[in-house]
Amino acid sequence: MGDMYDFRAPAMSWAQVDAAADSVRNSFRLEEVAYFPVVDVVEKLLANRFEEISFEICTHAEMDGAEGLTCPRGQFIRIREDVYEEACTGGVRARFTVSHELGHLLLHTDADKPLARAMSHEQLKPYRSAEKQANRFASTLLMPSRHISFLDSAEDLIERFGVSRPAASYRLDDLAKRGWR
Ligand SMILES: [Zn+2]
Repeated sequence: MGDMYDFRAPAMSWAQVDAAADSVRNSFRLEEVAYFPVVDVVEKLLANRFEEISFEICTHAEMDGAEGLTCPRGQFIRIREDVYEEACTGGVRARFTVSHELGHLLLHTDADKPLARAMSHEQLKPYRSAEKQANRFASTLLMPSRHISFLDSAEDLIERFGVSRPAASYRLDDLAKRGWR
């Protein structure tokens, strides 16, 4: 799903979202690896486990400007070509976008629990927001707490995980708020 509007998703605690991100790392035996190879993993996941899901690299025009788009029925995941190329060469924003779309694919494509599109004026609770859930998934996937210490600065996270400064700062603030658990 793109970021132009939000969807009301089934309620999930951040712990549940984190567990979903951790299970991706576990299944690829990447728990010990700090820098997450998100493009490799998405391509392998879609090639092996999700044969019925197509991974499409699309032009700017085809995407109507959106950076990424995941089909709510789980039939495709689309990444804009420049975003895909950036993600392949370690572009930090692009890596987050691909992780975000993977979050939608794993959290929001259950046909039994279709998402309701939220009106733009509607204030969704964070734990019901598909966009916030996908962002949380991406944050945890790229920056697992086991690889972060309370001594780390945003600089450390940027270097270690290949993330943007806002993403690194947000992650540190959130971990500090929750007492580094
Ligand atoms: Zn999204």
